[in-house]
Amino acid sequence: MNCIFCDIVEKRAKAEILYENDLVISFLDIRPVNYGHALVIPKNHYKDFLSMPKSELDEVIKITQKISSAVYNSLKPDGFNVITNNGTAAGQSVFHFHFHIIPRFTNDSFSFRPQLKNYENGTMKEYAEKIKSEIKL
Ligand SMILES: [Zn+2]
Repeated sequence: MNCIFCDIVEKRAKAEILYENDLVISFLDIRPVNYGHALVIPKNHYKDFLSMPKSELDEVIKITQKISSAVYNSLKPDGFNVITNNGTAAGQSVFHFHFHIIPRFTNDSFSFRPQLKNYENGTMKEYAEKIKSEIKL
């Protein structure tokens, strides 16, 4: 299996590493939206958010908050996004789960402003009921 992120974990590929521990590694995205755009990934290979085991997800989220804080405090952006793309339709290009931490600046070039829809009469409840029927805790 060819996976650039596994190669980074195994040090077969170079990356500008920000932090690592037994379970998680964080490094700079080689093609940043803005400079300082960081990634946080589990060292084990999981393809997406849904396939992450809870214990490792907890650690990835904890480290994502710590790296976000470091990005925010060191680079002083106006804001930042924490996002994860799941599936090609959502923009996922490396199928090894990762969070993006993207420093944002007022009027930067990155746009995430969709055309918002309105629910037709009653359909909001239908969508909620469909989703609620699949919530498994
Ligand atoms: Zn991988």
